[in-house]
Amino acid sequence: MKVLVTGGAGYIGGVVAARLLAAGHEVVVLDDLSTGHADAVPAGASLVRGTLRDASCDVLSGGGFDAVLHFAAKSLVGESVANPALYWDKNLGETLALLDAMRRADVRRIVFSSTAATYGEPESTPIEETAPTRPTNPYGASKLAIDTTLAEYARLHGLGGVSLRYFNVAGALLDGGLALGERHTVETHLIPNVLKIALGDGDAVRMFGDDYPTPDGTCVRDYVHVVDLAAAHLLALDACEPGVHEVFNLGSGSGYSVREVVDVCRAVTGRPIPAEVDARRPGDPAVLIASSDKIHRMLGWKPERDLTAMVRDAWTFLSAAR
Ligand code: UDP
Repeated sequence: MKVLVTGGAGYIGGVVAARLLAAGHEVVVLDDLSTGHADAVPAGASLVRGTLRDASCDVLSGGGFDAVLHFAAKSLVGESVANPALYWDKNLGETLALLDAMRRADVRRIVFSSTAATYGEPESTPIEETAPTRPTNPYGASKLAIDTTLAEYARLHGLGGVSLRYFNVAGALLDGGLALGERHTVETHLIPNVLKIALGDGDAVRMFGDDYPTPDGTCVRDYVHVVDLAAAHLLALDACEPGVHEVFNLGSGSGYSVREVVDVCRAVTGRPIPAEVDARRPGDPAVLIASSDKIHRMLGWKPERDLTAMVRDAWTFLSAAR
């Protein structure tokens, strides 16, 4: 297939673009490089620099596209709370421009990068796709609005859409000469932050809260390897059906606490990694664990790489990038 990957210069979009190429697809990346890196676009994919609003119409009208994989987004929860309008404009507004361009060019398949943040504070775990969606910040709300829009475009315009709701993505793609991992300018994620301390970049890990109702008091999250996540996108791409919008969670079904993650990082790196307890981070639910039964049942997906593999690959990537 000929596929447009929006946000393909970012962490997850770049890894998925590489896996698409390896599977024999033709890939065009559209990215404004506001947070992505041109060198994260794998060789073999062409890069168009621009926003969805300015460029998706021109790119798609170039012709021959079968599908869009849509990763381009703002994704910092704190920033979304400080500036909600930016998230509605960049996430929902630019997606509407993309969908309009898709309609004009008659491209009918889309796989969208949604998030566990659409659920908010869960009533029960593991979280199924039928759980209530009550996002607690504008980032999650803007992603949920896109899921809703896709469902409507499927119903009203015959679009075939899949929303993949990621839980905590980690690890890196290391494949021969190719190394693609997390390189955010503002790094909020736990694993790269812990590994930075292992590399001597900072004194101690800050663990946000140790008084949650969890076995060791720190928050529990469900981590999934970016390469397993990429495999789910390829399955979803094949599964898009005209007039249907499906939502699938992507996680491992098991949870690890912040302390456990720090311990795995110590074991993998062989470094002591000092850690201290800090205040809770506002808006963090105590436990987020996915049920990925639906995607297992319908598309046959299941994760193959455990937390140790995620940390090991992230560590190889980060230490080589120094
Ligand atoms: N966390 C932490 N210290 C950090 C970064 C994150 O204690 O430097 C905690 C955070 O409060 C959450 C978990 O690690 O409980 C995972 O956070 P992350 O930002 O990686 O992902 P999120 O679950 O927010 O999507």
